[in-house]
Amino acid sequence: MTNVNMNPNHSQATAQSATPFLEVKDAACHFKVKRGWSQKQTLTLKAVDGVSFTVYPSETLAVVGESGCGKSSLANLIVGLNPLTSGEISVLGHTLSNISRSNMLSIRKDLQMVFQDPFSSLNPRMTIGALLQEPLQVHKIGNAQQRAARVNELLSLVNLPHSYAQRYPHQLSGGQRQRIGIARALAVEPKLIVCDEPVSSLDVSVQAQIINLLLDLQRNLGLSYVFIAHNLSVVKHIADRVAVMYLGRIVEMTTKEALFAQPRHPYTQMLLSSVPRSHPEDPHGHVDADSDLPSPLNVPSGCRFHTRCPYAQPRCETEDPQLLDDGQDHQTACHFWPDILASSKQAVREIPAREKPAYVTQLLESFDEMAQQTTSDN
Ligand code: SF4
Repeated sequence: MTNVNMNPNHSQATAQSATPFLEVKDAACHFKVKRGWSQKQTLTLKAVDGVSFTVYPSETLAVVGESGCGKSSLANLIVGLNPLTSGEISVLGHTLSNISRSNMLSIRKDLQMVFQDPFSSLNPRMTIGALLQEPLQVHKIGNAQQRAARVNELLSLVNLPHSYAQRYPHQLSGGQRQRIGIARALAVEPKLIVCDEPVSSLDVSVQAQIINLLLDLQRNLGLSYVFIAHNLSVVKHIADRVAVMYLGRIVEMTTKEALFAQPRHPYTQMLLSSVPRSHPEDPHGHVDADSDLPSPLNVPSGCRFHTRCPYAQPRCETEDPQLLDDGQDHQTACHFWPDILASSKQAVREIPAREKPAYVTQLLESFDEMAQQTTSDN
């Protein structure tokens, strides 16, 4: 169980409002899995296992981790695509499990999702216009004329010509299809959008355009995002706060600035050390990912990361570290993070400079350009 004591002194968003839009308390999502040739053995897959966090209006919380860490299951849990095994999810103080079906539809309208693969999330037999009208029909919003007008508005919001309403998904590029995915999520005027790896299937230059679009929409419409990602370069540009997930749990959560400046958990250090550095003196840790993620069907005892952690001690195999706040909005689930932090700083000085591959240079330049563009827009 993770126990998060939130200190709401973290970002521009919190400054605007101390009332969280979304509160997730001790949420768990477990699945029963049949194993063996006779399918008689039943195991429990703990995709999400006691996760707590809050998202404030106009804030972006990024959730990062390796494939299989549970971040996409968490995304599905928030929008109701996965069942909640235990815990609570509340929107503006209303606990979803306690509200009536009629109110549920209205609250669900406020929580929309953008999927990783825009091609498979769009029905290939429907025109873009019909795809954008579909959420309005489901929620019984407007008449035929008003829905047609809304389609044009949505296309303008995502910077596509109105004529695209007549096209089919296969006639669009990957970036254009993701713009349609975003427009579909915007159709019913949500307050929070869960973005499940929305740029990971796109080219680097297109990734920057989509991130810029999401930032513009957030500024103009006051949206909150839960941004699921494994690419920390992307997270660095869009997030206000970052939650790092490992085997169904949050192991570190803080502001983007604090996380990138001084990662405390060895797993966060591992993720950051696998991101190509633009400068060899970048203050990131040096833990190497030298083993695979354990199966969520067989979660290690004690600290879940102890089978891969270079700092593990006997206590780590038996005692599960709680996610504790240091009083400065930085939560860490590790028994020994102060000692690890000290040794990481020492190790940074020992990392030799490495030549960057061309694609890394392109990626870094692309995001630097995007950051400059965003600053000048402001
Ligand atoms: Fe590593 Fe132990 Fe900290 Fe877990 S509690 S991250 S095993 S040092």
